[in-house]
Amino acid sequence: MTMKFAERMESLKASEIRELLKLTERPEVISFAGGLPAPELFPVEEMKKITGLVLEESGMQVLQYSTTEGFAPLREKIAQRMEAVGVQATGEDILITSGSQQGLDFTGKIFLDKGDIVVCESPSYLGAINAFKAYLPEFVEVSTDDYGMDMEELEKVLSTRKNVKFIYVIPDFQNPTGKTWSIERRQKLIELANKYNIPVVEDNPYGELRFEGERPPAVKSFDTEGRVVFLGTFSKTFCPGLRIGWTLADKELLQKYIFVKQGSDLQTNTMAQREIDKFLELYDLDAHVEKIKAVYKRRRDIMLEGIKQYFPQGLKYTYPEGGLFTWVELPEYMDAREVLQKALELNVAFVPGGSFFPNGGKENTFRLNYSNMSEEKIQIGIERLGKVLREMLTE
Ligand code: PMP
Repeated sequence: MTMKFAERMESLKASEIRELLKLTERPEVISFAGGLPAPELFPVEEMKKITGLVLEESGMQVLQYSTTEGFAPLREKIAQRMEAVGVQATGEDILITSGSQQGLDFTGKIFLDKGDIVVCESPSYLGAINAFKAYLPEFVEVSTDDYGMDMEELEKVLSTRKNVKFIYVIPDFQNPTGKTWSIERRQKLIELANKYNIPVVEDNPYGELRFEGERPPAVKSFDTEGRVVFLGTFSKTFCPGLRIGWTLADKELLQKYIFVKQGSDLQTNTMAQREIDKFLELYDLDAHVEKIKAVYKRRRDIMLEGIKQYFPQGLKYTYPEGGLFTWVELPEYMDAREVLQKALELNVAFVPGGSFFPNGGKENTFRLNYSNMSEEKIQIGIERLGKVLREMLTE
């Protein structure tokens, strides 16, 4: 039977890379490909207790439908946590979503008509690119350096392109590069967004995972006109399986997200919301985050030491002060997809960088994740990858 699908489906195809990476599910593969947290750090024992407790205390409510906006005490607790990045908010400013990924999809649904422009960093988060793609926009990528987007280039885009609907940024330990925006760039971004009257979407799943240095204020903290939507999540600080994230925005705009949420899935899983709320009540999430950071910092150090030791001299790579990823740039003539083919023969995987550029290009880049593999595996995997790269460079 032949079916006629919506136009948006044309842009949503399984990628060749995704097929290749299916191989990484074999247990012998050392995978730097995903963005998975370390499962051994999930608070399984605490969650066992909490699940029982929540069911005992309020079983009938937690198994029932609940409000679209989300569980009020949890929204309140999230609002309080936002103070750490200079954002003054109340629970009323927050919508609980099924991961921050749902906030990305809703952003596309709310802002984008076919042909509208999304301005994003070059490269940017693949999951966001795919979520927005369903609404058939054009992507305009703005170059980034170690401090964030190139502001001159951004202004050029904003002053010359008419239908820019929003600017999408990941200012802390960006996926895929691991880079963090300076405070000056955050301020300048708001200045330009105000000047050209453009909304900003600040996606921030990694900011709390800072191993060193001071956490900068959120872009949202500089927003005086209600133009920044902040997307947060418990996926990296707690566990992704519960699928609890949030959208923080000014009332009128948040109302749009609430309408869209109603039409999408009515509400986020009641039980999961209550469980996280209970965890925040009974345990110390910040102490838990400290444990995660200590483990990831060691893994980052081992990966970067390995890169220094085993990769060919002269390759560029980022030094992330937190988060989950580092980003490697090969000489321009090289193709990271070919490197992946060879690395897979040695049971090592990573994600080639091309797909993080919505308009294509830059196949000489790749992303490495260090949160999900043991220290030993990181060491072995990076040594093997170094061998592949050295061989390919001298071919
Ligand atoms: N934004 C970015 C930049 C991400 O890296 C991720 C997860 N990899 C998400 C959003 C989505 O996370 P979640 O839906 O689990 O909150």
